[in-house]
Amino acid sequence: MGDEPARVEANRARLETALARRVVYVEQVHSADVVTVDAETGVDDLAAHPRRADALVTARSDVALAIMVADCLPVLLVDAEAGVVGAAHAGRRGLLDGILPATVEAMEGLGARAEAIAAEIGPSVCGRCYEVPAAMRDESEALIGGIGAETSWGTPSLDLRAGAVSSLVSAGLDAANVLADAPCTVEDEAFFSYRRAATTGRFAGAVALP
Ligand SMILES: [Zn+2]
Repeated sequence: MGDEPARVEANRARLETALARRVVYVEQVHSADVVTVDAETGVDDLAAHPRRADALVTARSDVALAIMVADCLPVLLVDAEAGVVGAAHAGRRGLLDGILPATVEAMEGLGARAEAIAAEIGPSVCGRCYEVPAAMRDESEALIGGIGAETSWGTPSLDLRAGAVSSLVSAGLDAANVLADAPCTVEDEAFFSYRRAATTGRFAGAVALP
């Protein structure tokens, strides 16, 4: 928000150089929609015109998938055996609507097996910091067990990471293959946080096949 387009472009170009391949994004809208980048996908076109969705999956090694976040969860997934990767943007709405099972399913469509997928949840708001109204906590907990939590000051909150782990395990992942101990974006000022400062940048989580 409020970033200078030229600087955003320069940073994106730098990421492509660092990864030595095209980086594709989506226009994130808190949906449960997934874009599959397959052999037929025109990557230049996709890079120039991001689709409205909240996750990307691919089995191509010439493309990196990127998600932009500031507090929401960047979830990167890989089935190294099958050679399939995924990147999802999971906020409260997307989590409750099933963005993570949808991403796993799209990866399975490319040959991945849920039980072979490893997932990492990147820097994001933690359950101690994400205060919500009590009714929202209760409605969310009814949909994804474990997502309801309490802030460090004792009010209702959501633990989106616990919710993401629960959602991924429901989709067939082994809990031991889900890494969820990244820093909290609200507490750690090294990261952009929408909750800490409403006008803020976004940072990218990216994944690609070797
Ligand atoms: Zn926190």
